[in-house]
Amino acid sequence: MNSDLQENTHKRLNILTGEWVLVSPHRAKRPWQGQNEDTSTEKRPSYDEHCYLCAGNKRINGAVNPNYQDTFVFDNDFGALQKDSNEFSYKNGLLQSESEKGICKVICFSPDHSKSLAELAVDDIKKVVAVWKEEFVSLRANPAINYVQIFENKGAVMGCSNPHPHGQIWSQSTLPNEVEKKDKQQLKYFKEHKKSLLADYVAQELEQKERIIFENELFVVLVPFWAVWPFEAMILPKKAMKDISSLTELESYCFADAIAVLTKAYDALFDCSFPYSSGIHQAPTNNNNNQHWHWHMSFYPPLLRSATIKKFMVGYEMFGMPQRDITAESAANLLRKNSRP
Ligand SMILES: [Zn+2]
Repeated sequence: MNSDLQENTHKRLNILTGEWVLVSPHRAKRPWQGQNEDTSTEKRPSYDEHCYLCAGNKRINGAVNPNYQDTFVFDNDFGALQKDSNEFSYKNGLLQSESEKGICKVICFSPDHSKSLAELAVDDIKKVVAVWKEEFVSLRANPAINYVQIFENKGAVMGCSNPHPHGQIWSQSTLPNEVEKKDKQQLKYFKEHKKSLLADYVAQELEQKERIIFENELFVVLVPFWAVWPFEAMILPKKAMKDISSLTELESYCFADAIAVLTKAYDALFDCSFPYSSGIHQAPTNNNNNQHWHWHMSFYPPLLRSATIKKFMVGYEMFGMPQRDITAESAANLLRKNSRP
């Protein structure tokens, strides 16, 4: 392991976005005087009559959820994007705006109100993967949809308003900022090298073995070299695939297995239901060839050193660039120790 990277302040390049993160390993040793909140260890019931996601309950718009057994998908009653909003373009001097259309969906991962992905069996997570794939394929067929963002906000600290295990899909007519950056970087590499940027990256990580948390036959779970969040992680298929539409049964199982291992390691790390935002970045559905894309799932957890001590993106990070203390290698080591043998 390179000792400069473990001892001296440096910046690391995110090859997917072209942006840098500042790493200050010496600060990981300083005493902490920040906040320490009480964690709620209250056990939730399997069914909550006031939850709008539980089976059989009524939602605010009056619709009643079916008595679903595994997963359940519905159009978000209060979606940020709407399929039938007015189409317009506005330009006035330096002020510019474009209308944006889209479809927002909610996916319940399980009828059990009390469980998170970390507590579901791999076969049950595989059912969630199957729904992601199905929804992606159906949204892709819509000519008005050019990008599909699958994500989950977990935990009150991430602004999640309902503890029932669920995720969302926002799909829209143009590419969001983060996707556009990754599209450009991957295309540039593919043009120069005639192969996938992330396939080459995974091969290098598997050789170095310094940031790998877990691997199975087809997937790798690692802390990316350029991670911003203290325990940020990424799940990648070893083989380049542009999106999740072609996932086989075995690939879906191995992906579900990787999610299970990572979310369990997170919960074990600080002995709490670990909050995070996770999302799948994949090729746009804009009918371009997009062979430069290699889909992946990223986890951005806000916790820093305990169940209650969070990292804040403030000050220098708002005005300069993201900064972290603990190195990606140390974080991977801690997560590896907390994952199953
Ligand atoms: Zn519920």
